Amino acid sequence: MAKHVIRVGNVEIMALSDGMLEFDLCNFFPTIPEDQWQPYESHLTEEHKIRFNLGSYLIRSDGRTILVDTGLGPKPADAPDVPWGQLLHDFKANGVRPEEVDMVVMTHLHRDHVGWNLLAHGQKYVPTFPNARYWMSAKDWEACHQPAVQPARFANAPTCVWPLAELGLVELMRSEHSLTRELTAMPTPGHTPGHMSILITSKGERALVLGDAAHGPVQVLEPDWVSRADMDPELTRQTRGALLDRLEREDIIVAAGHFPAPGFGKIVRLQGRRYWQGL
Ligand SMILES: [Zn+2]
Repeated sequence: MAKHVIRVGNVEIMALSDGMLEFDLCNFFPTIPEDQWQPYESHLTEEHKIRFNLGSYLIRSDGRTILVDTGLGPKPADAPDVPWGQLLHDFKANGVRPEEVDMVVMTHLHRDHVGWNLLAHGQKYVPTFPNARYWMSAKDWEACHQPAVQPARFANAPTCVWPLAELGLVELMRSEHSLTRELTAMPTPGHTPGHMSILITSKGERALVLGDAAHGPVQVLEPDWVSRADMDPELTRQTRGALLDRLEREDIIVAAGHFPAPGFGKIVRLQGRRYWQGL
């Protein structure tokens, strides 16, 4: 199995997971006819579904511990068999305590990236990571409060995002933002208005936590395929295209949370075509 901890200069990146999610193709990629998937069948499950890892990355940089994305969250009491809800088990399995996290950074505020932010205690919420402040883009913070988009696009924001403000834990990023001397959040909009990817630079080495700028290796081959989850299809295509160009050209390691775990790889070119190559 591919290793789930890598080093980028002085920075350590550990891949963690909250489990997985599966979708029907026509549901997740409604504009892509099913026969166009034929060359990519090896990327699908036996039932012809698309499966996503729910990846988070724990980054140690500059004396700080940063958690990027927090999965879908605890298993619901009325659906205890779901294949997600594992993130805190994965913390334990890797000897990491939630108390160690200084910063929670969300690439965006969709429900599968904010689920473990808070724990409900009766009517009150407490932060799952009690020593952390929570970083997100101002644009997504605004979008997840808009009545016209919130219920469909940011379904769990009322319980997983909004209460962070009352707890005084919100840090908003308005544009490119330095999180530590080695970590920079970069706007990569389209999937959501304020989507961010996290660039890691240390000792001449680089990596990028991609977020949902792509959902799987097939979108490296077919960068124009947009999903139901991409809020602005045209901007998503532009951002993804520019990002893939740069990742290939500059030989940057990619940490891709929805790609097969642990999601570390590079964008490579073989016979004129771009591919995902796992590390
Ligand atoms: Zn996602």
